[in-house]
Amino acid sequence: MLIVNDEQRLRAGIGSLSKRCQYCCKALAAYPLILSDDARLAVYHAACAAALATEILVDLYTFFSPPAPYQQLFVLTPPGAAPTQETETHLAHEGDRGAHRVPLASPKE
Ligand SMILES: [Zn+2]
Repeated sequence: MLIVNDEQRLRAGIGSLSKRCQYCCKALAAYPLILSDDARLAVYHAACAAALATEILVDLYTFFSPPAPYQQLFVLTPPGAAPTQETETHLAHEGDRGAHRVPLASPKE
């Protein structure tokens, strides 16, 4: 939630601009601010919220599309969906290579 004035800040339960940003630990000091939707009350400078979101996106990208030589841990496929070409290729090679390769559908092991 975007906070741009004292009224919005007080309604969001942020008592003062001297409260510290959860990301950089400096005083909030000025608007605009971003309040997270998490259960715990977390408020950020707008630029810090953008930096945090960017870090999360980069981490997610690396997780779902890791650099070589690492392989993707799993592929999200809706129930009943036809396997993708990648999945079919993987399954076709499964028998050839033995059990050393982690199955696509299993995120752990
Ligand atoms: Zn900050």
